[in-house]
Amino acid sequence: MSMPATENANSCPTTEISAYIDGELSPSEERQVEKHLTGCSDCTDRLNQQKNFLFALSASLESEKEFELPKNFTKTIVANAESRVSGLRRPGERFTAVFICAALLLFALFALGADVPMVFSTFGSVFEKLIAVGSFILHSIFNISLSTTVVVRSLFSQIAFSPVVMLSLAVVFFGIVLMFFSHFIFRGSRAREN
Ligand SMILES: [Zn+2]
Repeated sequence: MSMPATENANSCPTTEISAYIDGELSPSEERQVEKHLTGCSDCTDRLNQQKNFLFALSASLESEKEFELPKNFTKTIVANAESRVSGLRRPGERFTAVFICAALLLFALFALGADVPMVFSTFGSVFEKLIAVGSFILHSIFNISLSTTVVVRSLFSQIAFSPVVMLSLAVVFFGIVLMFFSHFIFRGSRAREN
């Protein structure tokens, strides 16, 4: 009795083949899949493709394990940062620092959100709150932002980070901030209604 080279695609145990590779099938199911594989070139190809993919994947994971930061990584980052601080006087860098500062400040306020939901009920009170935050805190946050900017810039300059990617990241980040912001305004106004 001769078997067809390729069986009807509907009868091919596609999901069982993945389970077969993972060794999740019962012995009888395994035998069924093996029997099907002997007669179906499609499934034999599929099996080989999946095996190759898994092999490549585990090989890349293996090599990833061997990835280590260079021994002088921290030194390089710090040296880079120090040499680049002067660059922060450029308007673009100052904008980034101020932007991160504002974002951090917003997140800090969100962290207090449960206690001060009314703060977010109007834009006016947000500004009042912003002004109420002491200059010491602002100063600290600005310093953190400044170092964050420098570190981020140092890190990304090592992998040829393009301004376009930076800009889109900033837009995405700003979008998330706005999302949180509107969420709190919504919560604030709902709390007032109740
Ligand atoms: Zn098949």
